[in-house]
Amino acid sequence: MRKNIVAGNWKMNNDLSQTETLITNLKKQTQTSTAEVMIAPTFTNLWPAFDALRQSNIEVIAQNMHFAENGAYTGEISAAMLKSIGVETVILGHSERRAYFNETDELLAKKVDAALANNMRVIFCFGEELADRKANNHENVVASQIKNALFHLDAAAFKNIVLAYEPVWAIGTGETASPEQAQDMHAFIRETLNNKYGAETANNVSILYGGSVKPANAKEIFSKPDVDGGLIGGAALKAEDFYAIVNAF
Ligand code: 13P
Repeated sequence: MRKNIVAGNWKMNNDLSQTETLITNLKKQTQTSTAEVMIAPTFTNLWPAFDALRQSNIEVIAQNMHFAENGAYTGEISAAMLKSIGVETVILGHSERRAYFNETDELLAKKVDAALANNMRVIFCFGEELADRKANNHENVVASQIKNALFHLDAAAFKNIVLAYEPVWAIGTGETASPEQAQDMHAFIRETLNNKYGAETANNVSILYGGSVKPANAKEIFSKPDVDGGLIGGAALKAEDFYAIVNAF
């Protein structure tokens, strides 16, 4: 059975004191849904966030990691380092990593392998740009992103993979994919998995939608049968808004 998940990607926002304040406010919220809740603070705030949320239902996850176990990679963070502070889940392949840090499908395949080898769970992000959608090429783009980075895995590996469809044109723009557009793409993604791995794997993978999800639109998007949750950017920076989304299930 696939799970409903709402994950807040804080991106490069919140210093230490802002992180502490937001966590204090998150702890005051009431969860009425059964969704799994995650937040992804920046690296410097992972440990304080993890420590502050030990007794809570909120999982603290990372926004990125390097593929190597250790070594001469100045400025980078390994899976083992994340694991050593209790972080068990990592976001990989976010469109901002792809666009601004030149992350390719080939590199992402290595990062996925490293995370899984360290028994971590991966939230794997992908999504088309506006030009792809205008050219009606969005399904091809998404299929190739998934195939290139994930289809070397065996079916069992998908127990630790969550997919996050984030159309680039909907990220931080205020323009959300319509619930129908999200559903159509999520169904296509599940079909793509079904064709390669069979129905059991396809039906058990959670597929999140990301891109301008807000309290006002979360319920309708989450009501779609193949949408299993959300990866939330801007609206995750306010505790009330984030929990309005968590409780939209
Ligand atoms: P916004 O919710 O700010 O559009 O960001 C979505 C996102 O990129 C989450 O990873």
